[in-house]
Amino acid sequence: MTVLPLRTIAVVEDEETIREGIVFALRRDGYQPDAFEDGLTAWQRFEITLPDLVVLDIGLPRMDGLELCRRLRARSEYLPIIFVTSREEEFDRVLGLELGADDYLCKPFSMRELMARVKVLLRRAGHAEAHRGTEDELLIAGELTLDPLRLSVLWKGLVVPLTVTEFLLLRSLARRPGVVRTREQLMEEVTR
Ligand code: CA
Repeated sequence: MTVLPLRTIAVVEDEETIREGIVFALRRDGYQPDAFEDGLTAWQRFEITLPDLVVLDIGLPRMDGLELCRRLRARSEYLPIIFVTSREEEFDRVLGLELGADDYLCKPFSMRELMARVKVLLRRAGHAEAHRGTEDELLIAGELTLDPLRLSVLWKGLVVPLTVTEFLLLRSLARRPGVVRTREQLMEEVTR
């Protein structure tokens, strides 16, 4: 029997009661929750490694949810993002969708409703993943593992924090080990 790794769901929410409620529900449904109280701390983690899905509040200390969503979308086209918003934040659905959010729920929402959305979005992401082809497959070269979906790098099993550009450079080199590339060739791969 294959044991699948738990799906990691990031919860970025500064209201403790709501955050804890979401974390509890996720854990109960067999996910691995990763909770953050402010946007900047969450972003610092996402720069290193991306979760499988993000539940995102809008009004957050240090970096708001809209900015975080914008940055996440620039980093990954496919990462599912669900906004949870309160009425006073006057969430504009159009704005959220322009930023690339996949869904949103207005507070107060039921955990059952949120879990249903999580399940649907993960299934959709899994489906998209399966049809994306080799460009996004894991690249393993000796002790080095590159994950193009998460833009994350492991060296001997440990996460190496890299910027997106550094990741693309490394990927370009790791694809053809031993082949010398000019600066121009590398820059072309990174910027295309
Ligand atoms: Ca908030």
